[in-house]
Formats: sequence, C-alpha cells, structure tokens
Amino acid sequence: MEPVNEKAAGILKRLNVLMTGHFRLTSGLHSDRYMQCAKLFENPEESAELCYDLSGRFCDVDLVAGPAIGGIIMAYEVARALGVRNIFAERENGKMTLRRGFLASPGERVLVVEDVVTTGGSVEEVIGLMRGFGAEIVGVGAIVDRSGGRASFGVPFHALVVMEATSWKEEECPLCRDGIPLTKPGSRPI
Ligand SMILES: [Zn+2]
Repeated sequence: MEPVNEKAAGILKRLNVLMTGHFRLTSGLHSDRYMQCAKLFENPEESAELCYDLSGRFCDVDLVAGPAIGGIIMAYEVARALGVRNIFAERENGKMTLRRGFLASPGERVLVVEDVVTTGGSVEEVIGLMRGFGAEIVGVGAIVDRSGGRASFGVPFHALVVMEATSWKEEECPLCRDGIPLTKPGSRPI
C-alpha cells in the first residue's frame, strides 16, 4: 500500500470531502466515515493542486479520460496539469460510451481518472472503451481509493488517499452501541 498522503488527506478533511463521525449511508448501513468528492471540485484551487500532484505520478500521457459525472472535472484538471487533451465517457442505455464528438485514436496513451474508486467498475468500463479505439492505457489515477488498496486494473494505479470503507448493519453498529448520535452528512465533522 502507498504511504498516506498527509497533504491530500488534510485538504480533503478541511473541505469536508472526508468526514468522520457516525453516518447512515444511502444503503442503510452505518459507517464511521462519509465522503462527498464533489466538495473537492467545489473548490478550484484545491482541486487543481491535488490533480497536479496526482498527474506527477504518470508520464507520456496523450489523453486523460474519466467516467461521468465524477471523472469530468477531474479529467479536465489532470489534463490541464499534463498539458494534454481530456474527454469523458458517459452511460447511454447503461453502456459506457463516448458522445459529443469525443474520440480516442489507435496508439494514444490514455490515463483514466476517477474521483473515487470503490469497486472500480466504471474505470474498468472506460479502460475497455479506450482499448476498443486501439488506445493504450498508461495508468489509472484517483483522488480516493476506497477499496482499501484492493482495486487493481492491471496497469499502474495511484490514488492520493487510500481508505477502507467500514460499514455495519444498524443492529451491529459499534457507534450505535456506544450511544453516539448520528451525524447528518453535510453538517460539520465531529
Ligand atoms: Zn450506528
């Protein structure tokens, strides 16, 4: 596992991207963490800084591609840092595709980015899509790897912050057992 990037983790906590407390997730499970990566891209200066730091992990990139919606602004910022083009892929009838005149060319060296990698499913789809154009995948970059380091794409994968997604059923939640009140996402972190 990569060392913890204290600077990135500090920025994400300050902007309430990463919150610690006691949360009910949309799945109904309880967790001691909550993440909202849109809160990073709400802040252009910090977004640019973190995407610049991440871009430095990759070289010889021709094109940055990200899945909508989470990867749109990120692909743009990483591409700006690298001085290359960027595109985004989006779902059409459930299938990841390129629209809006976006194309990749055979032999183009593509960096795939996603703000948060959980299972990596969307990233895998973008990789497959780009390879369908004959492009070469240079690597995968993420702001947060929520798989705890388990996500793997068969190409170099760098995330600024790696974390475990800890969650429990309500009846098994240690925070409930300790009587810790639920925090509403969007409120200040504890
Ligand atoms: Zn709980």
